[in-house]
Amino acid sequence: MSRGIPQETLDEILNRTDIVEIISSFIPLRRAGRNFKAVCPFHHEKTASFMVNPAKQIYHCFGCGVGGNAYSFLMRYERMEFPEAVEQLAKRAGVALPKSEHDSKAESLNTLLYKINELAAIYYQGLFNSDEGLPAKNYLLGRGIKKETIDAFKLGFAGARWDGLINFLRAKNINLSLLEKSGLIVPKQGGGYYDRFRNRIIFPIYDLRNRIIAFGGRILPPVEQGKDLAKYVNSPETPIYIKGKNLFGLNMAKDEIGKIDYAVIVEGYLDFLVPFQEGLHNVIASQGTALTYEQVRLLKRYTRNAVVVFDGDAAGETATLRSLDIFLEEEMEVKVVDLPQGFDPDTFIRRYGIKEFKERIEGAKTLFDYKLGALKSHFSVSSVEKRVKIANEMLPTIAKIKNAMLKSEYLKCLAEDLGLKEESLLIQIKKVKPESGTLEVRNPVKNKVFQINPAEKLLLKLMLEESELIVNLKGNLEPADFQDERAAKIVSIAFDLISQGKKVEPNHLISHLSDDNISGFIGELMVSSEPLIESERRQEIAEDCVKRLKNQRLRLKRERLFEEIKSAQDSKDDQLLQRLTQDFQQLTRGGF
Ligand code: ATP
Ligand code: MN
Repeated sequence: MSRGIPQETLDEILNRTDIVEIISSFIPLRRAGRNFKAVCPFHHEKTASFMVNPAKQIYHCFGCGVGGNAYSFLMRYERMEFPEAVEQLAKRAGVALPKSEHDSKAESLNTLLYKINELAAIYYQGLFNSDEGLPAKNYLLGRGIKKETIDAFKLGFAGARWDGLINFLRAKNINLSLLEKSGLIVPKQGGGYYDRFRNRIIFPIYDLRNRIIAFGGRILPPVEQGKDLAKYVNSPETPIYIKGKNLFGLNMAKDEIGKIDYAVIVEGYLDFLVPFQEGLHNVIASQGTALTYEQVRLLKRYTRNAVVVFDGDAAGETATLRSLDIFLEEEMEVKVVDLPQGFDPDTFIRRYGIKEFKERIEGAKTLFDYKLGALKSHFSVSSVEKRVKIANEMLPTIAKIKNAMLKSEYLKCLAEDLGLKEESLLIQIKKVKPESGTLEVRNPVKNKVFQINPAEKLLLKLMLEESELIVNLKGNLEPADFQDERAAKIVSIAFDLISQGKKVEPNHLISHLSDDNISGFIGELMVSSEPLIESERRQEIAEDCVKRLKNQRLRLKRERLFEEIKSAQDSKDDQLLQRLTQDFQQLTRGGF
């Protein structure tokens, strides 16, 4: 492919890579017959439908249709671009890449956007450390943020000017349309641009590989009279920043989270920085919004246990409480801490110290206890109606608990606590809808249901399993014999490779074709668990399939001609009719 790296090198890297080893370094894989199995990391699911085939070095998810080889796994899972995935696997495999050529070609949009953010961070840091940044520095130091923390997170300052960053980056020859794509500048109505962040303290937002993907900016007090400015402004979404897929601080906290097997989730930037600098290194920030499935799944790579810390005032609201069910749906264990009225983690720690904060975390309540307590103080249990109302809020949460024993135990507790009958709660919980309808929408590109003829599918599978079969069939088979476009494309490339005297490996084909749809399709073929066909019968079965394909092709051609003849008759186009009829006769004669 035109990516600057020879196909042979790409294949060589794959040959020296074990996809099972790669994937299992991110998610736990379990043996399942010829394959390995896991809960799919790319869509929300309860039962494992993600398969890895070690013999073919291919993965595929039957739930969401994604699939591919080791490159495409890294691209999808680590959000790498192709050249990065190649680079990483090449390094692991000890394969040298043709450097210079590859580098210049890899300068894709995303790479440029990372670079722009890196430069912008330097600009903001520079300003922070200049005289102009003194108020910002004093503000942060005044809030107890240490110098080392400021440096480690590259905190910065955007000055009052409307064009400070624009000028800085223009002087580095970065063009405006690219800058606009980075979200750092905003187009003016009458033309021109201005800096998005002005007079704000800047918090770079990192991805898991410590690249800056966006910025958050906090207004620096005192705010001018009469100005109604948002306290925080963030970068908009860009090709490298999807808000709901990122967790602030995870890049710094992930190792510790994995090590001690739980994460503390706070809301704000400062609520993250203060405990972090005090040595609580398993903390991450949700950035003020309810967590998304993607964020929870991201976290789930490192732990299944979360402690959510609510600000004193946000706690106990029903919407906030409901948002925690998402952890149960992802089969995570979630506990809750709420801080005294008026406190958030930042102010709490500065007032009572990190030790007291850690104690609160240790004393976190289970979601069940916390939610029930919050609802009871919210609604009071004075009347039956109110107690029923509380039960109705609790049931969807309990319904989401996977463990049957725990679930029934909670139901019993709830009944006792509210003085309601356990049997009626049991009846009621059955009426709770699983709400899975809303989850399906979040699935990634679900393969359009392609109806592929079984003979085509079987033939292609046989061919991909055994290069020799392709050699044997090549004289008597054309790509166009396959009605499925994906199959036709795969076969055409396979034939090319055979003509060049090469072997056809399905995992290599995936990087030759670089098409998500086709990757998913190859993945499906290679991990599907049809019974194995004994080797001596493969040729015979393949030939039978070829026959069927030929017949199918002929039949379709006849049908198509027949349709054309009919419409030529309708439109009384005698000349065309005559020609079509001739074709038809020839086809029938030639065919049989
Ligand atoms: P501070 O302590 O500096 O006042 P905070 O973190 O306590 O800030 P909150 O109002 O509690 O501020 O907001 C929590 C978090 O929510 C913020 O740190 C920020 O990540 C996010 N946030 C709040 N308001 C906005 C906004 N207008 N735009 C984007 N993000 C916001
Ligand atoms: Mn705060």
